[in-house]
Amino acid sequence: MIKSKKSGQIIVISAPSGAGKGTIIQKLLERDSKTRWLSISATSREPREGEKDGVNYYYLTKEDFEKKIKEGYFLEYTNYAGNYYGTPKEYIKEKIEKGIDVILEIEIEGATNIKKLIPEALFIFIMPPSLKELVKRLKKRGTETNDKILKRFHAAYKEVNEVTKYNYVVVNDEVDIATEKIEAILKAEKCRVDRIEEVYLDTKEEEIHELLLGEEFDNRGIGEKLG
Ligand code: 5GP
Repeated sequence: MIKSKKSGQIIVISAPSGAGKGTIIQKLLERDSKTRWLSISATSREPREGEKDGVNYYYLTKEDFEKKIKEGYFLEYTNYAGNYYGTPKEYIKEKIEKGIDVILEIEIEGATNIKKLIPEALFIFIMPPSLKELVKRLKKRGTETNDKILKRFHAAYKEVNEVTKYNYVVVNDEVDIATEKIEAILKAEKCRVDRIEEVYLDTKEEEIHELLLGEEFDNRGIGEKLG
């Protein structure tokens, strides 16, 4: 009756650092790695302890990053808390055409640029329970100096104020519940009427007549049918 678009979707997920988006995205990927793909960004920031090149980010020098900007390598890029971050263009089109959803884990300026470029993308904002909790989480993570935490706090404060630019907001009080909510959003998105490509009749009128008049409907219970 309904033929829906088979193509994947761009899903932008933003959150202030420390809001727990990394864990949530990993859980979303674990649940369905066949039709979901996380784009790996490039950055000019130093890798944190435990981070790997090509896994967490592609780590570039500032000069290499700027060279790639000039070459048109990025779908979008920004300067965040003193470092460059950008989404490489490659693979995205191919994934979308194969019906794979592409997750972009990017901050708000990047999200705004994607919205201009691809207005039909889906924009989800993950909110920490409170800014105080966010600072506590950042301190506990222990990967940043107080000065850097302060920079991130300022960025987070700005971002939280711009949440209305997104389609959905999910508060991350509890990771599993927040993941479940995003899962529900992703499922609902697949049912949107603007994903319909064609509405058609799958049964001819004669077939309906045959169904209605040709056979008597056996409405006995299963127990009765089995004797
Ligand atoms: P972090 O340094 O904590 O890994 O990331 C800092 C911020 O940069 C986060 O909000 C993250 O979502 C964002 N970010 C990561 N990759 C990209 C990207 O490719 N483009 C943009 N615009 N932001 C990014």
